[in-house]
Amino acid sequence: MANFAIDAVKATTYDAIVIGSGISGGWAAKELTEKGLRTLVLERGRDVKHVVDYPTTMLNSWEMEHRGQLPLSVRQENPIVGKCYAFNEGSAHFFVKDAEHPYVQEKPFDWIRGYQVGGKSLLWARQTQRWSQFDFEGPARDGFAVEWPISYSDIAPWYSHVEKFAGITGNKDGLDTLPDGEFLPPHEWNCVEKYFSQQVASKYKDRHVIMGRAAHITKPQPIHLQQGRAQCQHRTICERGCPFGGYFSSNASTIPWAAKTGKLTLRPQSVVHSIIYDEKKGKATGVRVIDATTKQMIEFYARIIFVNAAALNTNLVLLNSTSNRFPNGLGNDSGVLGKYVAFHNYRAGISAEYDGFLDSTTEGRRPNGPYIPRFRNVYKQETDFLRGYAAGFSAYRMSHTNQDGFGADLKANLANPTLGGWGVGSHMMGETIPKETNYVALDKDLKDPFGIPQLKISIDYDENDDKMVKDYQEQMTEMFTAAGFTNIRLRDDHRNPGLDIHEMGGVRMGKDPKTSMLNKWNQLHHCKNVFVTDGASMTSTSTQNPSLTYMAFTARAVDYAVKEMKKTNL
Ligand SMILES: Cc1cc2nc3c(=O)[nH]c(=O)nc-3n(C[C@H](O)[C@H](O)[C@H](O)COP(=O)(O)OP(=O)(O)OC[C@H]3O[C@@H](n4cnc5c(N)ncnc54)[C@H](O)[C@@H]3O)c2cc1C
Ligand code: SF4
Repeated sequence: MANFAIDAVKATTYDAIVIGSGISGGWAAKELTEKGLRTLVLERGRDVKHVVDYPTTMLNSWEMEHRGQLPLSVRQENPIVGKCYAFNEGSAHFFVKDAEHPYVQEKPFDWIRGYQVGGKSLLWARQTQRWSQFDFEGPARDGFAVEWPISYSDIAPWYSHVEKFAGITGNKDGLDTLPDGEFLPPHEWNCVEKYFSQQVASKYKDRHVIMGRAAHITKPQPIHLQQGRAQCQHRTICERGCPFGGYFSSNASTIPWAAKTGKLTLRPQSVVHSIIYDEKKGKATGVRVIDATTKQMIEFYARIIFVNAAALNTNLVLLNSTSNRFPNGLGNDSGVLGKYVAFHNYRAGISAEYDGFLDSTTEGRRPNGPYIPRFRNVYKQETDFLRGYAAGFSAYRMSHTNQDGFGADLKANLANPTLGGWGVGSHMMGETIPKETNYVALDKDLKDPFGIPQLKISIDYDENDDKMVKDYQEQMTEMFTAAGFTNIRLRDDHRNPGLDIHEMGGVRMGKDPKTSMLNKWNQLHHCKNVFVTDGASMTSTSTQNPSLTYMAFTARAVDYAVKEMKKTNL
């Protein structure tokens, strides 16, 4: 007679489990399946298939009920996600609405999430700079947080590995502060951007204005065509999902690639509740999942587990994975789980005008823009705050459209805007210092709709951030003035942490198990078959956008994990 219990366990047992199908989970799935592992990807949200599940991608704004805008009622119902610049009628279906998944704001925190296959990879702005030696050496040199257990040279080959597959546009600028990568041709400058870049280069030895590096295919290579992806068409409505696969998303790239191996099982509507720890075996054996449709709890088993639920949800899953051995969360002997969370300081901006180049304008759109890599406190400490900031920059020709008249007159007016002068603008992207007091924890009383404790978030700016805002404004004012820009206007919008959407830490890497959660392979010090390779694992935040670094860490950790499995160490 068949042994149904054994058969049932077999049917739910895989070589590897990946929690989350966003940017980092998609990479884990690709790498694990390519290496031959039967891999189960558990995703709490619905399935989103490339192209067919992008309902607004081919619509013109006048074909949408509200012309691409969101009605006031939706904005009022969503005071948190409504602040995100990419939340609009064409993309709202990919964002978590405020009421759907509550959390506790011990301090104001705008938590922007995308719960679906692909996660936030459908929504991101695709900026992809490598982190440099100055970022990985930062905490040790400047004496904050803990030392990174790796250096730039450890991760450099893995950056190359992921860049080639994802498709990154950029220029080889030869800067220490922003290592070059495997680039597709760069996007074009406009004349005022080029002028500002030249002005800055002529006046400062250590400051540079370069073309941004972004996950767009400007010239498809065979590896992109094999993925079914094509050249970016510069429509700049990427957050609706791109039918060309012109930008990198899990949906267009890693998930279908993993599926082609025949080794992938993708299970949407699967909310991971916790990781199962087997006290006798001294390792994790699987995960508990709540099926979002039936609300039933199911278990799945595997030899290794990758946690890629996005930084704060990864903290939540580990905090909720308690056992006799780990009463305070999986692998949390050090007590640092949930602590030392950091983010990017995007509070400040500057805008101005330029009177030159009135005989030139721009034509068309560009899904990217110039970038100013960090220049403060790089080679030595120069200011009374720690670390530094990068900045975005762009220039655009201002115009005025006369909306008077009716019929043919109105059409003619709309079709012939009057050109004004040039506008220029920049926003800061500052590193924040990870601190014990910036933490997340499980709320003792409140539960989410699945009976899982809600996440309590307690994260704030500090004096270092205020000083950095002031310095950014002073330095940019100096650079703008030197370039002849006028009517300079400064902004500090005091936005809440979270709106940068670069939250990191809580499960940090480090050399010492007493002060960190993960070793240099993103492996829990105290539960070796569990790997965390999303933003939760970051020891410090750098000033660069983080997702390319999550991709590289994920590919590196999978390579290590599979080698360890082969040696039967896991
Ligand atoms: C508008 C916007 C612009 C951005 N711009 C940039 C940029 O220019 N450059 C950059 O580097 N980054 C950018 N980001 C951030 C970037 O999107 C994230 O860093 C990246 O997506 C993180 O990858 P991830 O795999 O950790 O998480 P996600 O991509 O968020 O994926 C996590 C997945 O895990 C799932 N999940 C969560 N909890 C569970 C659970 N309990 N069980 C099962 N599944 C679960 C989620 O549903 C989700 O699908 C931007 C984000 C947004 C929204
Ligand atoms: S700009 Fe490029 S990547 Fe974005 S939607 Fe258009 S084609 Fe796709």
